[in-house]
Amino acid sequence: MYEKLSFELSVSGRTGYSLPPMDVPEKSLASLIPARFLRKNAARLPELSEPEVVRHFIALSLLNHHVDKGFYPLGSCTMKYNPKLNENMARLPGFSQLHPLQDVSLAQGALQLMYELTGYLAEIAGMAQVTLQPAAGAHGELTGLMMIRAYHENQGNPRKNVLIPDSAHGTNPASVTISGYNAIQIKSNASGLVDLEDLKRNLNGDTAALMLTNPNTLGIFENQICQIVKLLQDEGALIYMDGANLNALLGIVKPGDFGIDVLHFNLHKTFSTPHGGGGPGSGPVGVSKKLIPFLPVPVIVKQGEDYVLDDKRPLSIGKISSFFGNFGIMVRAYTYIRRLGASGLRKVSENAILNANYLKAKLSSVFDIPYSGPVMHEFVASANRQKKLGIKALDIGKRLLDFGVHAPTVYFPLIVSEAIMIEPTETESKTSLDNFIAAVYQIASEIEKEPQKVKEAPHTTPVLRLDEVRAVKDANFRYQFESVG
Ligand SMILES: *Cc1c(COP(=O)(O)O)cnc(C)c1O
Repeated sequence: MYEKLSFELSVSGRTGYSLPPMDVPEKSLASLIPARFLRKNAARLPELSEPEVVRHFIALSLLNHHVDKGFYPLGSCTMKYNPKLNENMARLPGFSQLHPLQDVSLAQGALQLMYELTGYLAEIAGMAQVTLQPAAGAHGELTGLMMIRAYHENQGNPRKNVLIPDSAHGTNPASVTISGYNAIQIKSNASGLVDLEDLKRNLNGDTAALMLTNPNTLGIFENQICQIVKLLQDEGALIYMDGANLNALLGIVKPGDFGIDVLHFNLHKTFSTPHGGGGPGSGPVGVSKKLIPFLPVPVIVKQGEDYVLDDKRPLSIGKISSFFGNFGIMVRAYTYIRRLGASGLRKVSENAILNANYLKAKLSSVFDIPYSGPVMHEFVASANRQKKLGIKALDIGKRLLDFGVHAPTVYFPLIVSEAIMIEPTETESKTSLDNFIAAVYQIASEIEKEPQKVKEAPHTTPVLRLDEVRAVKDANFRYQFESVG
């Protein structure tokens, strides 16, 4: 009926103006397809209007917690706000519609962006060169370890072990094992730093590398780093730095300056791309000069005004991504870096550090803080005190959901019992931090007066407390049409 009306309007032309016909194909699509390809019975698809579809997805997005909806202090994950400008840039058709097999001459803009991004990252971290291929931090770890192996083998001196502090992220020992090395655990000392004596005991001619996170997963800067690097260099071993916590160092310190040989970046963390739920990621790897020959191919090289792909590198570990990595995330990181510039990046880290120390100071009246010195961008508290009253770190995390806050990381790092790991990031205002502090104070008082309320939380989320054991052993993935709305 509307179609007819618009058609009549368009042809009437009495005013001297005419309306276009409705923007739908006049011939039905079916008449364009040979009859033998058409289905005999209509598909049982739901008929929905556009507003219904939009409302469905908005409702779904609100069932979930995300950084556009509320505070997300998930330690180690750097859940900062992701500027929408980054999205606009990544969606430019010249970037988003490029085919990975497109001729290099037609992808010069993309190659220029990647080339410049490797330069920015190298400068930020003080590394000699960077590859963008790895598709996650863990993938970067594997890439780095493969280069370390190639380096030692090329020296005619293959080695067996990689040393890892006991505070490390689980991906570190996993990557070491997958790459064929033995993972050897190094103790932390009473200040939460690498125990130098234990390091010396385990360091020998079989040590390929030390894999160190700095600041470490307790949020503490490894201030013995120069001494540690010297010990390793004296044994001919390399130093891998897990750079997932780079949000604390931008413009303040360059890991290359303390002699790091390999470092991975988590673009999706430090350089702002929405992440979580397992992807997508981007884990570029920076290397020191002596590892440049082992970088994955192809390497983007500038020849005159042109960007070309160099894959004639005999010592390269080869390709570690089917194409070039997660390009959309590179565009976001590039945009973020260009927008902030050198001084803006430094402010990011300064504010991330300030926010973490503010929360730590305010929450130390409620929680035990096992390593009490100043921290970088995150800190680890312990719910040991609350556990004596029958409330675990997990219960506190669940109760925070009722305040519109994502739960912090709990039970990591493993060396802190009842660990609660809090990383506010620089993008939260003081008001938002104060609201979080008020929520934690209220929960602390509930634990004393009405612990059951905390034990049974959450009370306001679409799904209440799950039976975690049953969820694993008896998972129910059934699709339910009526479950939303
Ligand atoms: C996130 C993280 C990793 C792993 O990075 P992914 O991109 O999740 O694979 C490694 N180490 C630390 C310290 C991290 O926080």
